[in-house]
Amino acid sequence: MYFTSVSLCVPLPCSDLTHLSYLNEPGILHVLRHRYGGDTVYTTAGPVLVAVNPFKAVPLYGPEAARHYSRRGSEEAADSYEPHVFLTADQAYKQMVALNQSQSVLITGESGAGKTESTKKMMKYLAALAGGTGMEDRVLQTNPILEAFGNAKTIHNNNSSRFGKLIGNICGALTHTYLLEKSRVAHQQAGERSYHIFYQLCRGASDEERQLYLLPPAADLASFAYLSGSGCTTIADMDDAAEFGRVKRALAAVGIAPEQQRGLFALLAAVLWLGNVRFAALHEDAVEVEAGSMGAVGAAAALLGCGEAALVAALTTRRMLAGGERITRELNMEAALDNRDALAKAIYATLFKWLVEQARINAALAVGKQQSETTLSILDIYGFEQFQENSFEQLCINYANERLQQQFSKHMFRLEQEVYESEGIDWAHVEFTDNQAGRKARPPAGVGILSMLDEECMMPRGSDATFAAKLQQHHGGHPRFAYNTKAPAADFTVQHYAGPVTYSAAKFLDKNRDTLSKDLVALLQASSAPLVQRLAAEMERGQERRGSQTVGARFRDQLRDLIQRLDATALHFVRCIKPNSQQVAGAFGAPLVLHQLRCCGVLEVARIARAGYPTRHLHHEFAARYKVLLPELGPGPLPPGISALDVCRQLLAHFDVDASQYRIGRTRLFFRAGMLGQLEDAAARM
Ligand code: ATP
Ligand code: MG
Repeated sequence: MYFTSVSLCVPLPCSDLTHLSYLNEPGILHVLRHRYGGDTVYTTAGPVLVAVNPFKAVPLYGPEAARHYSRRGSEEAADSYEPHVFLTADQAYKQMVALNQSQSVLITGESGAGKTESTKKMMKYLAALAGGTGMEDRVLQTNPILEAFGNAKTIHNNNSSRFGKLIGNICGALTHTYLLEKSRVAHQQAGERSYHIFYQLCRGASDEERQLYLLPPAADLASFAYLSGSGCTTIADMDDAAEFGRVKRALAAVGIAPEQQRGLFALLAAVLWLGNVRFAALHEDAVEVEAGSMGAVGAAAALLGCGEAALVAALTTRRMLAGGERITRELNMEAALDNRDALAKAIYATLFKWLVEQARINAALAVGKQQSETTLSILDIYGFEQFQENSFEQLCINYANERLQQQFSKHMFRLEQEVYESEGIDWAHVEFTDNQAGRKARPPAGVGILSMLDEECMMPRGSDATFAAKLQQHHGGHPRFAYNTKAPAADFTVQHYAGPVTYSAAKFLDKNRDTLSKDLVALLQASSAPLVQRLAAEMERGQERRGSQTVGARFRDQLRDLIQRLDATALHFVRCIKPNSQQVAGAFGAPLVLHQLRCCGVLEVARIARAGYPTRHLHHEFAARYKVLLPELGPGPLPPGISALDVCRQLLAHFDVDASQYRIGRTRLFFRAGMLGQLEDAAARM
């Protein structure tokens, strides 16, 4: 029976989910799984590119593929090409050039979903596309540096980005970075690592370098407390020693002078030695450096270019003004340990900032005046994440992801609805999940979690416990907030768009205040090492600029700026999907994929695009573009008495476009997905 065979036959997996005849979850999953099985990891959902992480090398990125996409004429419809990150990059680039309009590509997805890899592939494509300037190498060489210093192994991703970045204009001349997770320098959860660069340095340094940076033999890497606490120092398939060579070549390529490189590595070693400084309690309120770790103090002092006694004093005491008099106060054990870690973290974070800045300046110099007004930016941030234990950093990371998800929703849905409404087109509203909509029930603005944390930081007696208690008091009834009834002052749970995360309130206040003792800054300022002096100056400037602004407040401001920046550009979206949690090739976990599709809005996008009219043109644009198809109108301006809208109607009638396939708005024509192909083909034949 024909009928049976037809209905049983598996539909050819299509490349755009909105073209599916049955647009339901099983249908979408089927298509993605099928394509994934054939190493076709990209699929579109209307305007969004969905990328499923292959977790293995796939033959999709060769020069042939790049040439294929780059040959696309800027007028040529993108939907006749297989979806690909190259295609998305190509669209953004060609749209920028054709319309003289800034573009941004937002790459989102959970930790380990493939955002950073997608970003790199796009950069490589764009560098080649805009090529011929000899810039490519310099541009692409910033990647190994940013990854060595800003990525680390987490339980979700062996190469997890621990900072956010907005790469501007591919040459990196406009790169911005966002909040680096600096707590990782001093502490990592079980099975995780600190920043790659530490292991690379310890494993890859030559004998000469070991002498210079006072490093033990490679095998003794675990003698550094900052690297051994988590019980994990290696990553499968990662050769740290070889990577060290790559990073050094990359540093040279972006113009970091050998002298500066030596300063950089000396500082990394200093951070490690600081971690080995232990204290012994003299009494309840005072400590001294443990005799056994005077060697570590000596090494750290030598590498920092400061005196040993001065370092000991800055680590164990704090000078302050009391009643107009300068006094020196001893630190207790907890304060001394925090002080030591604060120094290590501040050095690393400032170093990271300096490095990014340096690479950026050098890139900008190389580009020189060729820089145009319009920009093409790619946003790659740390993905949504959830660990056994989640702290302030996770809250910031997940908050950033919430904001971007909102931006996505706003873009896809609200703007969409507004356009239809303002054009007077009746359009069935599609329901969508938006954590902000849910927030209408929230207490008034200003009492969000981060602002409540800021308030608590101002309180003389504020503590992590009083903060948690206030959260509970103010948000206890909020549908997206919960607290642990057994330990109400310890943790709280936020129902994020991508799932619930339980945060431990411990250390929230400290991390948000992020103070570094003036004594430590002064110590570094007096250093004999030029790079240390520079970083100390930067720390002081940072403290002055920031005033009493907290880390959370600054991050919120940065995100607000970012969103404003994005709002001023045309947006392109890539949604990365993680097919399994084991980071292995070939495993497609349907529930995991479905969860991601649901919470990142891909399902709704597919529905919206199908329900709506995604292709649109202003009446006069449309008339001007397709007028050639009506020869009776002749060339030149329209005859008197005939409006652009009249021409549009004539064109629609001429091509017998079905009434269900378009809508005429006040200023624009709206078409169903794919409808314009016919007209394009006809115009191309003219
Ligand atoms: P995070 O939010 O933690 O930074 P991410 O989304 O940036 O995560 P990536 O680091 O890009 O995730 O990807 C994780 C790993 O997945 C990569 O190290 C790589 O092994 C693999 N991977 C991702 N995309 C691809 C791809 N297109 N081809 C091959 N492997 C990939
Ligand atoms: Mg990443």
